[in-house]
Parts: sequence; C-alpha cells; structure tokens
Amino acid sequence: MSRSAIAFLLGLMLSATVSAAPGWGVEVHDRLVVPSGAPTKTVAITLDACGGAFDASLIETLVNLRVPATVFVTKKWLDHNPTGTAVLLAHPDLFELEDHGTSHVPAVIGKGRRVYGIAAEPDAAHLEEEVTGAAQVIRSLTGHAPAFFRGATAIYDAQSMQIIRSMGYQVAGFSVNADAGASLSEAQISARLRAVQPGDIVIAHMNKPAGATAEAFAATLPSLLDRGYRFVTLSGVRLQPA
Ligand SMILES: [Zn+2]
Repeated sequence: MSRSAIAFLLGLMLSATVSAAPGWGVEVHDRLVVPSGAPTKTVAITLDACGGAFDASLIETLVNLRVPATVFVTKKWLDHNPTGTAVLLAHPDLFELEDHGTSHVPAVIGKGRRVYGIAAEPDAAHLEEEVTGAAQVIRSLTGHAPAFFRGATAIYDAQSMQIIRSMGYQVAGFSVNADAGASLSEAQISARLRAVQPGDIVIAHMNKPAGATAEAFAATLPSLLDRGYRFVTLSGVRLQPA
C-alpha cells in the first residue's frame, strides 16, 4: 500500500475517533491559516458559553495573561449572565463575541433527530431564528455583527450548513476538543492543551465553573507562552478544513 493511501486510511480512522456525529451529521474541523509574517506558533482559543453560568476564574486567567479568545455565546447565556457579559465586554481587545445560537438548539434539521440527546430544529425557519436571535443581541452589545456561527454540539447537516453560510456566517470548526464539554479532569484537559500544534483551534467551555477547565488553562497557558505560542481570535485569521 502506498504511503498516501496509508495516510488517507489513518486520517479516516482519526476522524472517526474524534467525531461523535451521527451518520447524517458532520462535526466541522478547522485549523488556522497562519498568515505569513505572523508568529508560526499561532493558536486560537474558542470558548463556548452554551447556557449555565460564568467561569470567572477562566476568564480572569486569560485577562491576567493577556491571552485573547473567541467566545461563542448564546442569547440564553447572555440573558442569564449579566456580570459575565460585562466582564467580556470590558475587554474588547481580548474577547470577541460570536454566535452560538439563541436557545442552544443543535443546528441540524429534522423532526425526531437528536444530538447528544438534544432535539434538533424542526425546520429551516427555526434554524434561522436560532442564528439571528443571538446575533441581534451580540450586535446590540458590541456594535458588531458576528461573523462566525457555531451550533450547539458543533454538529451540522448538509442543509443546515448551507443555510448558515447563505446567511453570511462562517461555520466555526475546531481541531482540539480540550474539555469535552467541561467534562474532563484537569490532567486530561492539561494534556490536550500541552499537545496543541501551530494552527490549532481549541474548543473549551466557559459556562461550567464547577468543571476543571479553568484550573487546566491556568496550569498550562504559561508554559505554552514560554514555548513561544501566541494566541489570536478568529476574526483576524482565515480557517481551512482540518
Ligand atoms: Zn454549546
């Protein structure tokens, strides 16, 4: 078997292990196109705020280290976390707010479909409302319309991706699932963060302060900075399929 065939098969096996998508869905994986002239060890941190609470400790670590992040917020999270929202808005140089939906309904279409147990959108109109409801709040808070959308669970189908893109949004994928919904231990999250590669897009969660995400970032980010890694938000870079 040729080397390229082996690489292709390995890629299939890897994508099969990292993707939890059902057969009709796809988990979008992207990496950064690092612009020429930029530090080669460039990584983007993306933090989802699905619902739930505000992980003040995680955000405090990023502020103290001057590490920027792209924060995917739902309207639901913004409505219930005015203090956390104010902290994010107080640091527009560090935190970019992007669209994670209105009510955190997965961006897949079809009655009876469920992703991780959460019911999908019944039709296209509901998906459009999921996208625009959060976008309107983000625009009223920041003065900027979001450019990126990440659906709840980060699983999509062909129709939903076509609709989201036709509305003018880029679907924001990722390449390193750092905390698996803030369900991993500090050691597990730290191991995944220590293993980042130039161009990676990290996904983690800033809505579950009881998890170990904040502790792992506090333990790991200083060493990544020492190793020469620099962090960007998504609006400053281009994405390419991973
Ligand atoms: Zn989410």
